[in-house]
Amino acid sequence: MTEEHDALRADIQLRMENGLKTEVQPRADSSELVLEIINRLQSSSGDLDSRLVIGGFTLTPVEHGGIEQACESCMYYLVHKKYCELPELEVPVEPEWSCRLWRI
Ligand code: SF4
Repeated sequence: MTEEHDALRADIQLRMENGLKTEVQPRADSSELVLEIINRLQSSSGDLDSRLVIGGFTLTPVEHGGIEQACESCMYYLVHKKYCELPELEVPVEPEWSCRLWRI
């Protein structure tokens, strides 16, 4: 599983570096916005690109409202697995990555 996850992280990084445009803004500040983004993720095809685009992934932390939002400080981040356990995303990530569903 570790190798599979490493390969998936490398794949995600490549997609992002190749210019995949993700919806970095607006950040999910309100419960309405969280619900809207989650609903879109649930009704999408669920493939990797959809999750990255709708989730608004970035390869670097995003400064928002005076807070640096990075996977490593997000409540959904599993440190030892370097994994996002938000059910609608379920994807291996790097600690310095971010998405707009970041939550403390
Ligand atoms: S929900 Fe949190 S851990 Fe998951 S990708 Fe977004 S910022 Fe990273």
